[in-house]
Amino acid sequence: FALKPETRERTLIHAGGRVIGDGYFTVIAGPCSVESREQIDGMAQSVMASGAAILRGGAFKPRTSPYSFQGLQEEGLSLLLETKRKRGLPVITEIMNQTQLPLLEEIDIIQIGARNMQNFDLLKEVGRCKKPVLLKRGLANTIEELLMSAEYILAEGNEQVILCERGIRTFETMTRNTLDLSSIPLLKERTHLPVIVDPSHAAGIRSLVGPLSKAAVAVGADGLMIEVNLDPQHSLSDGDQSLSPEDFDVLMQDIRQRVFFE
Ligand code: PEP
Ligand code: MN
Repeated sequence: FALKPETRERTLIHAGGRVIGDGYFTVIAGPCSVESREQIDGMAQSVMASGAAILRGGAFKPRTSPYSFQGLQEEGLSLLLETKRKRGLPVITEIMNQTQLPLLEEIDIIQIGARNMQNFDLLKEVGRCKKPVLLKRGLANTIEELLMSAEYILAEGNEQVILCERGIRTFETMTRNTLDLSSIPLLKERTHLPVIVDPSHAAGIRSLVGPLSKAAVAVGADGLMIEVNLDPQHSLSDGDQSLSPEDFDVLMQDIRQRVFFE
């Protein structure tokens, strides 16, 4: 069960030689989308040098408008895997539907995005594989619903689930979403699964990513997922919330004073 009985130890996630969960602090970083070989490989080198443990890069992108960049699809995936092999860095990418699962064989962590949090067939399917899954909270889903979605994955036999708070929709429009900071300690009380925070999609604004990251550390998150791009101004997706490699490095030095990294 996703819920934590008194006696149960916290679950540790094993992904590509890394451990996520209790006592370790894991930073996942990289671009919103894989854009080119040079971009994803350059990002891998730079986020690794700053101390990130896992590289993110979307290939199948859930965009609000059908006219926005939809990701490089299979080509993006193979560029991400090429970088993984070259740099030896574990990678995470988003799955949009069940048919993509066989393509993700070499991916270390499968991401279920906010928009698919209640795609129950997809949850069941990833529940049947043995790979770690990062499950993001839906834009308008309660903590209870997030836990029930995690339960779908666990019920099929996969206990390697990481929960991710990425902001929820509220009446506030100055930020893209509202980071629900109370969800982190609450989830940690209720479940044995690791909880990480995505300040990038919560804020939607670059300048808030640092402060929200530090808030996540303060409330006990097990890690962060941060969007970083070589040239945020020219990102094909989510540039406004992406940090430059330099900004990311400064933030990592700051976070390093506060936690022990994996
Ligand atoms: C993402 O991580 O790029 C993404 C699309 O996030 P979310 O599903 O939280 O909107
Ligand atoms: Mn994004």
